Amino acid sequence: MHEPLSLKPASWLVAAGRPTAPGEPLNTPLVPASNFILGQEQAYARDSGTPTWEALETIVGGLEGGRALAFASGMAAVAAVFDQLPADAVVVLPDDCYQGVAGLAVAGAQKKRWSVVRLAVEDTDGWIQACAQADLVWLESPSNPLLRVADLEAICAAPRKPGAIVAVDNTFATPLNQQPLKLGATVSIQSATKFIGGHSDLLAGVATTQDEALWQGLRRSRELNGATPGTLEAFLAARGARTLALRLRQAQETALFLAERLAQHPLVSVVRYPGLPSHPAHATARRLLKGYGAVLSFDLRGGAALADAVCQNTRLIRHATSLGGVESTMERRAAIPGQEHLPPSLLRLSVGIEDAEDLWADLEAALQAAAR
Ligand SMILES: *Cc1c(COP(=O)(O)O)cnc(C)c1O
Repeated sequence: MHEPLSLKPASWLVAAGRPTAPGEPLNTPLVPASNFILGQEQAYARDSGTPTWEALETIVGGLEGGRALAFASGMAAVAAVFDQLPADAVVVLPDDCYQGVAGLAVAGAQKKRWSVVRLAVEDTDGWIQACAQADLVWLESPSNPLLRVADLEAICAAPRKPGAIVAVDNTFATPLNQQPLKLGATVSIQSATKFIGGHSDLLAGVATTQDEALWQGLRRSRELNGATPGTLEAFLAARGARTLALRLRQAQETALFLAERLAQHPLVSVVRYPGLPSHPAHATARRLLKGYGAVLSFDLRGGAALADAVCQNTRLIRHATSLGGVESTMERRAAIPGQEHLPPSLLRLSVGIEDAEDLWADLEAALQAAAR
């Protein structure tokens, strides 16, 4: 296979992880196997992987710039990173991040497995200081669902405790917009459920690192916890990744268009999208991100009831959780148990690849209908 850096990302996404020998299938083979005839590299899939998982790992690892491991879900990859921590570890977590990660961290703290410190996403000095003491520095940027942006460059370069892990949840940016390992992060996490897979039809996760000992630790954790991806899921995630560059380019172009339109709408009080010059961390986003992503959130003048009504009135945009699919989805995040701290009318919109004018017409009509 080609060297990762010899191809531009869009070509790599198409070419990587395919068979190359004459007579082999053109496509990544779907290999449903728990075990392999001894003497081959693979022996038992839960330990040593399968060619189908490896194709996904090759694709994502090449983009992230490290050696990747595929997991059953994004949270399985996250849990494998937390699994590396020594006793009495200190974990530093952003004040806005994926709720599952916060839930895992808090649950472990309640069982006295580690302690958790939370810092504001933008508190760069605080993060740099925390790096000196933390065993796990957990970053997520842009963050979910407030689209806040951390100075990953400064934080990943800060001196850290020996053996500490700096992990970046890179799901929103995808490795096309941001490569945390190149900034000095130890491990980058993708929920491949989202943009990598891109079709809302699977659960999978990927962790990528340049640290061989950490890779071995993660692989061992995947083996002992049985956090392995399904064969079909890994196949579908790799297949979805073939079109990631096209999908993301279209979706983030439309996201900016919708963010600009929403910002001018009288019913909208705030639009959060790192690509808007009015975003508080737009300068940081411009410096660190190749693209601003396909997720935005906005608040309404009118509270939760109005926001719920908007969700009920869209037709093209589906009222659904999750993100990163070809179809646009929207939901009111404060309606989710445990997310009541969020602004009550905040709507998170994951922009798909539908026609931008159709999406705006749908949103505008829903806003109008809801306000009636
Ligand atoms: C969805 C998501 C996860 C968790 O991934 P799953 O595949 O659902 O387990 C983690 N981080 C972010 C930012 C996500 O959006």
